Amino acid sequence: MGSFRLGGMTLGSLFKKPETLLYPLEEKPAPAGLKGHIVNDVDRCILCGICARVCPAGALAVDKKARTWAIDPFRCVQCASCVAACPKDCLSMDPSATPVAAKRFEVVREVPEQPKEAAAA
Ligand code: SF4
Ligand code: SF4
Repeated sequence: MGSFRLGGMTLGSLFKKPETLLYPLEEKPAPAGLKGHIVNDVDRCILCGICARVCPAGALAVDKKARTWAIDPFRCVQCASCVAACPKDCLSMDPSATPVAAKRFEVVREVPEQPKEAAAA
């Protein structure tokens, strides 16, 4: 009886779409709500540093003088505190997975000068 069932399952699987994906050629779509990683729309960033102050992991560094915003993705615990605290709503959680890395790195973004009226809004 068991071998009949096994044979049926084997035959059935020949005509079904495989459960596996041809990774890395095919990628699984990110499930809804996946936090992924932080991205900064630097065109709206005013370098206020609030995100770095609220980050519990010390993953963010804001340098007003050098006009840079940086994140250490290896420290980030994806809590989204910085996203909630940013007064300019320029931070968001990108649901896509970050590429695999063999060495630690930091993402450094240069922040352009904001027009006066945009920075004040
Ligand atoms: S809180 Fe927002 S506006 Fe302020 S430095 Fe961070 S990303 Fe820029
Ligand atoms: S998501 Fe949390 S841990 Fe990651 S940078 Fe933002 S505040 Fe820091």
